[in-house]
Amino acid sequence: MQIQQYALALHQQIKADTVKKQCKMCGKVTTFTDTTIQRHNANGKNIYQFAIYKCPKNHSWNKKLNIYKSFTEHVNPLSIVPTSFIEIEPGEKITSMQKGDFACEIKITSVNGIFRIDRTLADHLEGWSRTEIAHNIKTGKILLNNGLTKPSQKLSVHDKIFIDGK
Ligand SMILES: [Zn+2]
Repeated sequence: MQIQQYALALHQQIKADTVKKQCKMCGKVTTFTDTTIQRHNANGKNIYQFAIYKCPKNHSWNKKLNIYKSFTEHVNPLSIVPTSFIEIEPGEKITSMQKGDFACEIKITSVNGIFRIDRTLADHLEGWSRTEIAHNIKTGKILLNNGLTKPSQKLSVHDKIFIDGK
C-alpha cells in the first residue's frame, strides 16, 4: 500500500480587526485596521511580536502581541517539511482518496485560527462527507499522531493525520 504524504497549512480567512483609539498623528480618535502584517523586533534577549494597524490616513500603530525570551522558539526543526510532501493549497482537495486502496498522511505545517479535524478533512478530502470522516475517526481509520482521536479535536501545528482509505 502506498502512503502519500501531504503538507497542509491552516489559515482562517477572518475579517480584518479594527480598534478605535487616539491617533497621535491625526490628533483625534480614529479607527485603526489590522493590516495582518506582523513584525518582530529584537531588544536584547527579548523578541517582541507586533501586529501593524493603520488609521485611515495610513499612520501606523503597533499592537504588541507576544514577547519571546530568545530566538530558539523561532526555528523549530519540526517546521521543516521534507520535499516529498505534496503541499495542499487552500481550497484544494485530495482526490486520490476516492480510489480506495490508498493511505495518506497529512502534516499540519501551520495553524492560524481554530480547526477541527473532521471539518478540516471534509474540506480537503474529495468525496468524503463529514459524517463519514467522523465515523472513520471513531473506528480508528483516521489517526492523529498515531493515536485515536475525536471528530471535534482541534488541530495544532506539527500534527500528523493518518488516513486509511481502504
Ligand atoms: Zn492617523
